[in-house]
Amino acid sequence: MTRSNFLALLLAGSLVLKGQSHSPEHQQILAFVSDNTPQYQRISKQIWDYAELGYHEEKSSALLQQQLKGAGFAVENPMSDMPTAFVASYGSGKPVIGILGEFDALPGLSQEASPDRKPVVTAAPGHGCGHNLLGSAAALAAVSLKQYIEKNHIRGTLRFYGTPAEEGGSGKVYMVRAGLFKDVDVVLHWHPADRNSVFNGGSLADSSAKFTFHGVAAHAAFAPDRGRSALDAVMLMGNGVEFMREHVPSSSRIHYIITKGGVAPNVVPDLAQIFLTARSPSGEVLTDIWQRIQKIAQGAAMMTETTVDVKVISADANVLTNAPLAELAQRELEEVGGFNYTPEQKAFAEELQKSLPPSAVGHFEQTSSIVPLRAPDPNAPSASTDVGDISWVVPTIGFTSATLVPGSAPHTWQAAAASGMSIGQEGMLIAAKSIALIGADLFAHPEVIKAARADLDSQLKVMKYQSAIPMGQKPLLTYREE
Ligand SMILES: [Zn+2]
Repeated sequence: MTRSNFLALLLAGSLVLKGQSHSPEHQQILAFVSDNTPQYQRISKQIWDYAELGYHEEKSSALLQQQLKGAGFAVENPMSDMPTAFVASYGSGKPVIGILGEFDALPGLSQEASPDRKPVVTAAPGHGCGHNLLGSAAALAAVSLKQYIEKNHIRGTLRFYGTPAEEGGSGKVYMVRAGLFKDVDVVLHWHPADRNSVFNGGSLADSSAKFTFHGVAAHAAFAPDRGRSALDAVMLMGNGVEFMREHVPSSSRIHYIITKGGVAPNVVPDLAQIFLTARSPSGEVLTDIWQRIQKIAQGAAMMTETTVDVKVISADANVLTNAPLAELAQRELEEVGGFNYTPEQKAFAEELQKSLPPSAVGHFEQTSSIVPLRAPDPNAPSASTDVGDISWVVPTIGFTSATLVPGSAPHTWQAAAASGMSIGQEGMLIAAKSIALIGADLFAHPEVIKAARADLDSQLKVMKYQSAIPMGQKPLLTYREE
């Protein structure tokens, strides 16, 4: 029997095609989601207003904890040396189903819920990745699924993971290392985007570090011979990376900024720093590139008679996809379906699209439809997430829902704008409903959980987990300032 047949048989009871009515079980869950919707849409707006950066999400985390506690979950906080990390649990025994919630913002993307560029506060943080919706929809799914489990006396444990600092802090990596996912059977997650689509193509593994060069300061005109320039080392390192770029697989990504470059042109800089990220769809390829980058840094220090310290800031594994779970997620996403813009939303989206390059403008059809399930393409991924590290430990599946105006991308003011108004708040419901339905299906079908575990185990036979974060390193709570 093929896997598809196997799943189709298992799920025959809850199989409902797009446009058809829902099974009684699904109707019940969707009714709970509807009841809770206004509250969680308000919460998403509140977290959007807070716009707190990674590891500083005190108010956002507290607000979600408070909701889950109020809904009957037992909440543990802090977790894994992270004050804003928490785990909310309901029920007992197996299976254990985990739902991930993020809530951190991005620097510099403060933006009103307006289709034109208008910061609320210039240069302040904003929810340019829609994590205000991410955490709120995940919590909405969790409380609704909890009500369903409770009402129907379903055995098992439901867990919501409040995971801080996805944007550059790798919060989930520390939660994995602390063993918080050890007994979990399946992890569910979603991410805002401009379309409704199951993640079936993995992600880029990434490693980021700050390379700090130390030299000798001197008068740049009177005694340059006495100086050893840390900035020279930074520039040589950049050049070395550029020359290496041709000789790495073309699916790799390397990007960097100079975070410290001296204080005055007439003083030889004794301190300079480069902040660099490297990525690859393969953890093994990334490890190789990462080692070569360390050699370039050492070489640059040697050439300039400076020294270099390397501080790994974050690192995320590539996401392992899971075929049985991807099929299940696709089924539920299609059952839930997309949504059509109201005339006001359409006007907002058309105005916002004027700010996008013509080649990027997407179609409104992306919001109302579900992207067909694609075969995994290991070279397709273009982004990274700390969900990756979880996917190496627990069978994990995620999807995107259309919370952004078609054509706009995460990490932009356009994304921050849509995440703070009704388009984002409508899109988050697709996510909440789909996660709740997938979760209910998993509680009802232990065979799917078994198939998902077997799929992960077969992948682990031929791949090895790698992380550039040194074992024993504590979360860098001030990673943006280090
Ligand atoms: Zn994100």
